[in-house]
Amino acid sequence: MKELIRKLTSVSSPSGREEPVRALIKEEITKHADEIWEDKLGNLIAAKHGGKTKVLLAAHMDEIGVIVTDIDEQGFLRFSNVGGINPQRLVGQRARFANGTIGVFGAEKLEENQKLTLSKLYLDIGARSAEEARQKVSVGEIATFYHEFSDLGERIVAKALDDRIGCAILIEALKRVANPQNDLYCTFTVQEEVGLRGARTAAFGIDPDLGIAIDVTGTGDTPEAERLAIKLGQGAAIKVKDNSLITHPMVKDLLTDLATKNNIPYQFEVLPFGGTDSGAIQLTKAGVPAGVISIPCRYLHTPSEMVDLNDVEAAVRLVVAVMETKLD
Ligand SMILES: [Zn+2]
Repeated sequence: MKELIRKLTSVSSPSGREEPVRALIKEEITKHADEIWEDKLGNLIAAKHGGKTKVLLAAHMDEIGVIVTDIDEQGFLRFSNVGGINPQRLVGQRARFANGTIGVFGAEKLEENQKLTLSKLYLDIGARSAEEARQKVSVGEIATFYHEFSDLGERIVAKALDDRIGCAILIEALKRVANPQNDLYCTFTVQEEVGLRGARTAAFGIDPDLGIAIDVTGTGDTPEAERLAIKLGQGAAIKVKDNSLITHPMVKDLLTDLATKNNIPYQFEVLPFGGTDSGAIQLTKAGVPAGVISIPCRYLHTPSEMVDLNDVEAAVRLVVAVMETKLD
């Protein structure tokens, strides 16, 4: 799976501009689904039939980025965020636009006690004038983090593991599932990072009986970290709550039972912030029981997100278990 993850994290596909990663995923799953289609918002849906219960499994294709709002007289780009960007972590990092233009983040001098905000930052694409900058990039273009994939053995580091790791898990589960017992809708969603938008239309179209998102979650296992029980390498995380969802008890029990029965390492997750596609799925039509299989991830929303491949494998096995368990 490492090669698949490397490929998926190497493309630049910010929210609303998911074409490159969607093409890559389509290529990977073509032989493994009964039907594949795109909805009008751009979600990629792969159906595999096997039973009456409709199960929507969602992983988001988009990644965070920055969008050019203005180009100043000296050719520095000013920008706004696409998804959750932490200004404190940007200076010195690089970003890349769809046309290949690369820039480095810089910051204005701050007064004492002044907080670093996005309006104090700029992107330097090496232009010597506004005119030269405008030849490379226009207002409204979106750049994503530019950082290479690093293989640390059992652990890997890359940008956009949020949520290309979820995409990789869903692709791998689709390849492995031998005996689907439910009507599966593996959905690669758009625009999660800007408000769970793709999941909303996908779920409306599919009208599922059960929804499960596959996405990353924060950890509490680094020096002086925020108190969170989640640790890298301790298994797939079964979400209990975040800011978008209280997992339906039936779904929490289902995932816990399947993990126990199949000897899949797991941990319970309570995240005091954030949300995933399941937050939108559960509110579809008259309501959908929903939950999340999470992958513990350090340094979320930075160019260097880190996951443990043992957790990834546990998540794949848990997704396959859901696919192969008759839920009628
Ligand atoms: Zn995510």
